Amino acid sequence: MSMCWVNGRFVDEAAATLSIFDRGTLFGDGVYEVAAVYNGGLLDADLHLARLERSMAEIQITPTLSASAWLSVMQGLVHQNAIREGLVYLQVTRGVAERDFPFPRDAVPSMFAYARPKRYGDDPNVRGVSLHVVPDQRWDRCDIKSTSMLAQVLAKQSARAAGAFEAMMHDRGTVTEGGSSTLWIVQHGTLLTRPLSHDILAGITRDVVLELASREGIPVLERAFTVDDARQAEECVLTSATNFVLPVTRIDESVIGTGEPGPIALRLRDAYLARAATRTQT
Ligand code: PMP
Repeated sequence: MSMCWVNGRFVDEAAATLSIFDRGTLFGDGVYEVAAVYNGGLLDADLHLARLERSMAEIQITPTLSASAWLSVMQGLVHQNAIREGLVYLQVTRGVAERDFPFPRDAVPSMFAYARPKRYGDDPNVRGVSLHVVPDQRWDRCDIKSTSMLAQVLAKQSARAAGAFEAMMHDRGTVTEGGSSTLWIVQHGTLLTRPLSHDILAGITRDVVLELASREGIPVLERAFTVDDARQAEECVLTSATNFVLPVTRIDESVIGTGEPGPIALRLRDAYLARAATRTQT
C-alpha cells in the first residue's frame, strides 16, 4: 500500500479519499501536474510547480500551499514510497461545495498527491512507438493543465484500440499534440514543433528539449506541421515528463523514416538523460 498526501497529511492509500461534493469530481474543476522521479530525485519539480501556479491563476484558484511546501510534499512521497524511478502526481481542485456551476464563495482548494514507480532506464519504448491519428476534440484553453480531459480520454482510448502507443491529435489536418505528450518531426534536417498558444500545453519537456536541441546544434523551429508532413518526415518524436524523449516509428499504417528510431531522437534522449542525471532534487 502506498503513502499518499491529502489536504496536508500523509496517509495510507486506503485512507486517501475526497468528498463526492469535490468540484474536481463534479465538474473537473481543477488542475494537476506530473513530474518524473529519476535517480531517486524529482526532475524539474520547480518548472512543474511554476506551471501549476500558472494553471491555478488561469482558473482563479488562489494557492494555499507555496511551491517550497509542495516540493517538501513531493520529496516526502518519493522518500516514503522509496521511489528511485517513477513519478509524482499532484492535483488541486476548487474544493468542496454544494453543486452549482459558478465558483462557491468560500471553498477551500482540495489538494492531493501520490507517487508511483515507473522504469525509465530500460524503457522498451526507446525502440520506437506508434501513433494513431484522431481529431482534436478539446476546448479553446489547452494551455491550462486542467483535470477536465474527456477529449484526451477518448483520443487515447481510440489509440489503444488501434494498438498504438499514443494519439496524434490534429485540427483540420494540422497536428496539435499527442493525447498527453508534445509531438515533433524532423523535416529536411530541422526539428519542428508547434509554437505555443492556447491550442497546446506548454510542455516542460518541450522547453527542455528546445534548449537541448539548440545546445546540440540541431536546427530547430517552432512551426506547425500537418499529419501528412509527419507521415513523410525523416523522424517523428514524442516528449513528455514521464516518457522523456521517444522515437516514433509508425503513424497508423505509415512507417516513419527507415522504421527504426531516428538519430536525432536518440541524440536528444541521450542529452535529456544526461541533463536529468544532474538536475534531480532529493
Ligand atoms: N500535452 C499534453 C496534452 C499533455 O497532457 C502533456 C503531459 N502533461 C504534454 C503535452 C507534455 O507535457 P510535459 O512535458 O510537461 O509532461
